[in-house]
Amino acid sequence: MIKEARLIENFLDMVKISSPSKNERAMGDYLLKVLKELGLEVSEDNAGEINGGNCGNIIGVLRAPGKKKLLFSAHMDTVVPCEKIVPVIENGVIKSDGTSVLGGDDKGGIAAIIEMLRVIKENNLDHPEIVVVFSMGEEIGLLGSKAFAIESYGIDYGFILDSSGKPGKIITKAPSAARGKITIIGKPAHAGISPESGINALTVAAHAITKIKLGRVDVETTSNIGIVNGGQATNIVMPSVELDYEARSLSNEKLDNLLAETFKIFEDVCKEFGAKLENTVQVEYPGFALNDDEKIVEIVKNACERAEIKSETASSGGGSDTNIYNSKGVPSVNLAVGMTKVHTLEEHIEIKDLVNLSKILVEIIKG
Ligand SMILES: [Zn+2]
Repeated sequence: MIKEARLIENFLDMVKISSPSKNERAMGDYLLKVLKELGLEVSEDNAGEINGGNCGNIIGVLRAPGKKKLLFSAHMDTVVPCEKIVPVIENGVIKSDGTSVLGGDDKGGIAAIIEMLRVIKENNLDHPEIVVVFSMGEEIGLLGSKAFAIESYGIDYGFILDSSGKPGKIITKAPSAARGKITIIGKPAHAGISPESGINALTVAAHAITKIKLGRVDVETTSNIGIVNGGQATNIVMPSVELDYEARSLSNEKLDNLLAETFKIFEDVCKEFGAKLENTVQVEYPGFALNDDEKIVEIVKNACERAEIKSETASSGGGSDTNIYNSKGVPSVNLAVGMTKVHTLEEHIEIKDLVNLSKILVEIIKG
């Protein structure tokens, strides 16, 4: 049923369309046209306007009154460099010419969704109601999915196609994450003449850092200071220091506790030294955890079995639109696309994997 040549042609067409985050217009126009040709009710929401981008989320609905409603989603934006992508095929593998990413993240997911729709139409397959969402701004903070009014579509289950790994891998758990700046404001003074009248912000930070939890906090939780910025000159007591901090956990509760503990330590140490604290760290997206015996997992596992593709559930270390849809009450999983070494110039994807992913989607529809 899957037509490999058509699938690959569509994928290559799409990776050649440049679509950095907030600049997805050309990609959005292409997809509006494709979905319309396939007979879907198409629309574009205001996610672009809200987020200062030039394209909203592209939405297509294939009606099936009275039936289950399934969401299929992948994101339109790609990380840079993606201005002029020249795809190269070698031994069944699609890669870039080495000067850009490939953009298989996430156009591999989009290609599989479009192929699934083509197979449905061509073979007149019985199908549930299908809502397709191609989101904008995923790579820079899940902007599109956050803005998408999923609640107005009454969706039963969501299938997001945006994980690395071989098709058949089902991401059922992903962390919540918090990010932001912790700034310690001390007091400047001449380091040679009157150091005692200053408060060295770095000294304060150092005291706090020896007390907070960093690195792998437990099997589900991590914590990191990734960037440190501060100071003006060697002869000035450092007046302020800025710490770029992030923390993640598969448990929302553990993340909340870790953040509370971390902030309390910074507050206490600042007080002790007479320094001030500014803190912009906040939860960027909530995590999700689905059990292996939940219906949506069963649906994908059965589909893989019928497609004769091995399936397994796994947890992810990063966030995706899946986090947002789960937090909005729609049970959703993130399915592996086959994309490899994403966000690098060596990104590639095997043709076989694009075909397998499309097969799984068609089986999800049939199930
Ligand atoms: Zn992605």
